[in-house]
Amino acid sequence: MPVQSDSQVIKDPAAARAGALLTIDLKAVQSNYFRLCEEIGPRVQCAAAVKADAYGLGVAKVGPALADAGARRFFVAQFDEAISLKTALAQAAPDCEIYVLNGLIAAPAEEFLASGVRPVLNSLGELEDWSAFARLQERALPTALHIDTGMCRLGLPDGEFQSLLTRREVLEAIDLQLVMSHLACADTPEHPLNREQLAAFKKVHAAFPKIPASFANSSGIFLGPEYHFDLARPGVALYGVNPTPAEPSPMRQVVRLQGKILQVREIDAPQTVGYGAAHQAGGPMRIATVAVGYADGYLRYLSDRGHAWIGDRRVAVVGRVSMDLITLDVTAVPAGEARPGALVDLLDPKTGVDALADEAGTIGYELLTALGHRYHRLYLDA
Ligand SMILES: *Cc1c(COP(=O)(O)O)cnc(C)c1O
Repeated sequence: MPVQSDSQVIKDPAAARAGALLTIDLKAVQSNYFRLCEEIGPRVQCAAAVKADAYGLGVAKVGPALADAGARRFFVAQFDEAISLKTALAQAAPDCEIYVLNGLIAAPAEEFLASGVRPVLNSLGELEDWSAFARLQERALPTALHIDTGMCRLGLPDGEFQSLLTRREVLEAIDLQLVMSHLACADTPEHPLNREQLAAFKKVHAAFPKIPASFANSSGIFLGPEYHFDLARPGVALYGVNPTPAEPSPMRQVVRLQGKILQVREIDAPQTVGYGAAHQAGGPMRIATVAVGYADGYLRYLSDRGHAWIGDRRVAVVGRVSMDLITLDVTAVPAGEARPGALVDLLDPKTGVDALADEAGTIGYELLTALGHRYHRLYLDA
């Protein structure tokens, strides 16, 4: 009898052929957006950070889902990401505002203007350039200004901010829509840098009282109302990562990852499993080989460390994660469940993106953005 895989039960033949299925719940993304809106209250607007292809989940689907939920302002890192997003939102939100965090250096000013995408200006030099360009165009061109309040990464350092205050005429030619800054330690509420950055950003806000201010990322939202200002910029919480790591997650899981079992074999001591003979059988055991590997973003650090679920049974990754495959100890799982073609849950609400990231020695951000392009992606529609 030919082996019937669980994914063949799914009608889509491409899904049936795939080694693994990545299901992305767009309703959960929307529900997370609403949850964050509720947290900041009706007076504060909620933008969405959708850089890195919406944290690996696919901006072409996630962008419109967020727009349907009401998001109109979006942040990306790179100029080309902005163009992809703009294309994705042409129907759902042609009026959206897209900001490129990497700044004016990300593309020529002409391209920003032609595409209607806005640079976040990160230095006095960029401010001067955008201002000179706006004068040439004889139009006040919209933009945001990023002030560094303690992250030392992007934005005007304090010295440049102080000199801006003495020569505000550079601002005259432009249409400043937003002043923003970014928190370094928002996921650690007790970290003293949070309050230091807040104090610094309050000064920035006081210097530009009429310009909307934006400070909080996902975790920043949960630091309390003082951190909210006019516009929040959550990213990772939308995608189901816990923005309050010390407490239970207020967010819904968005991603489910299932891998297909290719083979099951019985081994015994002193046999070893996989590359480097890294796992040695202590006695009789059953090994299931699953079609997911580090090329899919299943991080190699999960070797002999990660866990998966077959139905209600938690099983361990044994041996090294290889490029296309992992091996699981399914000794305790009935043969009828651990069989070729069956799907194993590698990331699901039982595990949670934060728990798997923890096992992988990383954070949910990296786990999501590492998700490969080989999965068959199923979007549960909003
Ligand atoms: C990525 C990013 C965000 C979103 O951060 P999350 O922690 O994912 O919510 C907000 N602002 C800036 C400047 C960013 O780079």
